[in-house]
Amino acid sequence: MKYMDEYRDPAAAEAWLKAIRGLVTRPWTIMEVCGGQTHAIVKYGLDELLPSQVQLLHGPGCPVCVTPLEKIDRAIALASRPDVIFCSFGDMLRVPGTDRDLLSVKASGGDVRIVYSPLDAVEVARRNPDRQVVFFAVGFETTAPGNAMAVHQAKMTGVRNFSILVSHVLVPPALEAILGSPTCRVQGFLAAGHVCAVMGYREYEPIAERYKVPIVVTGFEPLDILQGVYLCVKQLEEGRAEVENQYARVVSADGNRPAQSVVSEVFEVVNRSWRGIGEIGASGLGLREAFADLDAERRFDLSAVGPRPEPAECISGLVLQGRKKPNECPAFGIRCTPERPLGATMVSSEGACAAYYRHRRKAEG
Ligand code: SF4
Repeated sequence: MKYMDEYRDPAAAEAWLKAIRGLVTRPWTIMEVCGGQTHAIVKYGLDELLPSQVQLLHGPGCPVCVTPLEKIDRAIALASRPDVIFCSFGDMLRVPGTDRDLLSVKASGGDVRIVYSPLDAVEVARRNPDRQVVFFAVGFETTAPGNAMAVHQAKMTGVRNFSILVSHVLVPPALEAILGSPTCRVQGFLAAGHVCAVMGYREYEPIAERYKVPIVVTGFEPLDILQGVYLCVKQLEEGRAEVENQYARVVSADGNRPAQSVVSEVFEVVNRSWRGIGEIGASGLGLREAFADLDAERRFDLSAVGPRPEPAECISGLVLQGRKKPNECPAFGIRCTPERPLGATMVSSEGACAAYYRHRRKAEG
């Protein structure tokens, strides 16, 4: 298949592996911060093909996984209301809240609907003027433009029964939080290509300079990732710490300006809690005051739903920070499976635990 097979060619992959082997003289630790890259790495066994000196860590690159437990509980509380139609992308429905998930709310009669675009949720609101319609606005910078457009459109066209439950997170503050940790082992990053397609990569340059880490904007196919690793290792071996763009067929330095414009019109930067990690300053997006009437957390009284502790056995916070691999969790594949997940990293299609369960479990017995 054109544009796919050419990035999965085994001979080309071997050539990149040979080039990496030819570069490495000592151990390096590189983190990818994208659930799509994590799944490609685990699915194709790229981490196992690399020379043993190059270790890949999986970072907090799955937006579903980092959505805080409190926000899931709030979504469940909203979806349980008889006056609410709760709209969400499908991957949020099985993320465990404290006592249940959105799918179980749907099974017990809640009006929970899967949509493929936030604009579909605005349309649901238009067709149901006597009901409140809430859209679960989750994601990194990639989904923010679409969600901002839905809010903008609802506001401008007077759809008053539409609101969003916001849990947007931003990648650069997460990189800084990881690099600022005293336990940080990361020496280089593969940055998520789709995030940079929206935002460009200029905001990564001060991070590379301040923390002396190479950051390589990287795509999602096996050859993209191997080339990203090659560029990162090359910088490390040469003592450089720059932002490089492996994914130039999609990403430009400045990104998508119209998308950035609608995001900044609707959203402002706020502090945000990350599931399993805690609050990171200025790491999320919240609705600006001009759009506050479309904020579900202001429209509905959710004060009874406060912070709750994570399941004691789940170490997804450590997994999301690259401090543990999923198969180091004692519950992995035993008490925690995709059918009965203890943590979001096991249920999300981009979660590291789900990737290991799908692609590594049999091999490791
Ligand atoms: S395997 Fe399950 S319990 Fe363990 S870290 Fe992953 S999601 Fe949490």
